[in-house]
Amino acid sequence: MNKLEQLYEGKAKKVFLTEDPDVLIVDYKDDATAFNGEKKGTIVGKGAINNRMTNHVFKLLEKEGVPTHLVEELSDRETAVKRVSIVPLEVIIRNVAAGSFSKRLGVPEGTEFTEPTIEFSYKNDDLGDPLINDYFARALDLATWEEIETIKKYAFKVNEVLKAYFLQADLKLIDFKIEFGRYHGQIILADEISPDTCRLWDVHTNEKLDKDRFRRDLGNVEEAYVEVFHRLGLK
Ligand code: UDP
Repeated sequence: MNKLEQLYEGKAKKVFLTEDPDVLIVDYKDDATAFNGEKKGTIVGKGAINNRMTNHVFKLLEKEGVPTHLVEELSDRETAVKRVSIVPLEVIIRNVAAGSFSKRLGVPEGTEFTEPTIEFSYKNDDLGDPLINDYFARALDLATWEEIETIKKYAFKVNEVLKAYFLQADLKLIDFKIEFGRYHGQIILADEISPDTCRLWDVHTNEKLDKDRFRRDLGNVEEAYVEVFHRLGLK
């Protein structure tokens, strides 16, 4: 599998064409952004950690019946993935109040929910990824009802698998964002699952071990990513 022309450069990854029209290569960067690109920085080693962690988690999810775009890890930063057309929705699952939920609804961070909740944002940088609901998604024709139902089903399944997976590493899954794509008419999980896209707190101390360390200038950013990686037994 060879990298051909660069198709796209995003905030955290570069994407390349390959000889196979159905396969792309993603190359994870150490670049970090927050607040819709307003805050920029570098988290040394993040690209390799997010690549390896995403692939490990995606393999686990495949076993649990969630189809993903993963084809094959090629190097510490590069992975071959199925070329999907991304559904322009950020799908957020929350188990505990934090971040924008806490701000919007005046609920203190750390408040546990009686059951997990789901949220959709319209993936649109110019608008700042506004919060929408499933009817808005239909109104904008971002997905069909059938696709929305599939996305919800997979998102809650991902939550169950991830909660258990992180808990055995003494990490509490507070919330996370995932994205889906269409591949030959089927909805599959795409993008990444990493400390960039999940809130992970130490179960004993509630120490934040995720991108909030970067967003909020809490220090020890690199160390937190490495800590998560090691706790999960990844190399
Ligand atoms: N998230 C993400 N990308 C985004 C926005 C959010 O990966 O563009 C993740 C974030 O890391 C957290 C969850 O989605 O795990 C919920 O984020 P929230 O809506 O609270 O937004 P934030 O407080 O990060 O602005």
